[in-house]
Amino acid sequence: MIPYKHEPFTNFSLEENAQAIREAIAYVDSYLGEEYPLTIGGEKVTTEDKIVSYNPADKNQVIGSVSKASRELAEKAMDVAYETFQTWRKVKPETRADILFKAAAIIRRRKHEFSALLVREAGKPWNEADADTAEAIDFLEYYARQMLRLKDGYKVESRVGEYNQFGYIPLGVGIVISPWNFPFAIMAGTAVAAIVTGNTVLLKPASTTPVVAAKFVEVMEEAGLPAGVLNFVPGSGSEIGDYLIDHPKTRFVSFTGSRDVGTRIYERAAVVQPGQIWLKRVIAEMGGKDTIVVDSDGDLELAAKSIVASAFGFSGQKCSACSRAVIVEDVYDQVLERAVELTKELQVGNPVDGKLFMGPVIDQAAYDKIMSYIDIAKEEGRIVAGGEGDDSTGYFVQPTIVADVDPNARLMQEEIFGPVVAFSKAKDFNHALEIANNTEYGLTGAVITRDRAKIEQAREDFHVGNLYFNRGCTGAIVGYQPFGGFNMSGTDSKAGGPDYLVLHMQAKTTSETL
Ligand code: NAD
Repeated sequence: MIPYKHEPFTNFSLEENAQAIREAIAYVDSYLGEEYPLTIGGEKVTTEDKIVSYNPADKNQVIGSVSKASRELAEKAMDVAYETFQTWRKVKPETRADILFKAAAIIRRRKHEFSALLVREAGKPWNEADADTAEAIDFLEYYARQMLRLKDGYKVESRVGEYNQFGYIPLGVGIVISPWNFPFAIMAGTAVAAIVTGNTVLLKPASTTPVVAAKFVEVMEEAGLPAGVLNFVPGSGSEIGDYLIDHPKTRFVSFTGSRDVGTRIYERAAVVQPGQIWLKRVIAEMGGKDTIVVDSDGDLELAAKSIVASAFGFSGQKCSACSRAVIVEDVYDQVLERAVELTKELQVGNPVDGKLFMGPVIDQAAYDKIMSYIDIAKEEGRIVAGGEGDDSTGYFVQPTIVADVDPNARLMQEEIFGPVVAFSKAKDFNHALEIANNTEYGLTGAVITRDRAKIEQAREDFHVGNLYFNRGCTGAIVGYQPFGGFNMSGTDSKAGGPDYLVLHMQAKTTSETL
């Protein structure tokens, strides 16, 4: 088998690639507005009640409408998934992995189409959409290979006269709940990790980006996934989300999203329901308040560029986005000034033409929330770039830098999830690390320094799940930088890493007397 290697990104400065994505966008436009059913046990179910997905860059453009699961349909999907688990868990791991390989090949052939759909449905600029699609392919390729590694378990010792074995078996029915910000990669990655390990799944995608999820379900069917393994149940968090989390047949939950929803799920899943015969397992990957620390002997141009790219890529709507820049005081003004210059060059608008750095934010609620933080910014610091928004046609917010913010201010503590970065001054490197750790989150961080001792100090003391040196703090690659955070950033499940699949299984030891 070809060793795993991450899917290369497309270079859109080459005209042939730019042309390919333009054509893909035209193709996606030809099917905008279509309806998508639920999938329960292979059956396509259409409901009256729909989730309508809109283009955040052009808010009247309907991407598609997706049937919405009621509690009754969620219950039906649970029954089907529970029953299908009895057969799917016995399917050979090699066969399960092959379905992922096949799905990766299908997506690779339709790569630009998927990216084009992300441009329209999530408002992603071309390169961000391309990275999302590449990551979805990576998850399929990587987890399929990981399953092949894990299928025989691990060697354990045996004494004379006995034969001991240690292996993994699947858990049962998993509820997979995904966010809108990586509507393809995280949705697909969390679903296939559960599937390849022998579990059956109820997939509830984010309500703002359900169409790409519906398309992914079609791919998995085409790849040969048996009916009932992946059940597609978009719906409201409060209506079917709570219901499924509480369900006594739910064996595990794989959630990626905000801290508030994640902690709610974690608490609810801990309650043992009547008829439930296990403790539910919860994977919860949540928010971030991620810091780039700049030391006085760091490369200051690199620092400014890293802050700007990490803060404003996909409009700051990444859990890994840099929302805090902590800079040692003797270089603070210099880095701030350069970051402002670079930010003022960024253009915001509809990402469809591929020339703009930044598109919209996802919806009205996100826009209103971000603008309310910009109001707070006026009290808590100095807005030195951006600060404006326009929601007349789409939800556009200018990339915003807020200078001189106190480390304990709300802007430095709360996840805004938009293109807003707060700058804070530190007395020295130790103080900078202290500020960096002064949040309840612990997802990503970066340190810009040329000093080896400081790199080693940060490696030990900067308490985040993904720490980067002399680069930005976004852009983890499956199989290269396993991803997940500490503290209120979640359970540190490390998606795209060698331990991830094991979280979807339980270990069984057998010992035979010979
Ligand atoms: P969100 O928490 O609002 O929604 C996530 C998912 O949970 C959606 O599918 C939503 O419909 C569902 N949901 C909402 N209420 C629910 C309930 N009561 N029960 C069950 N499900 C419910 O998050 P979002 O706005 O979609 O995504 C942005 C957030 O996700 C940010 O906080 C970001 O940092 C985080 N995120 C984290 C990671 C990571 O790997 N740590 C990756 C991407 C995004």
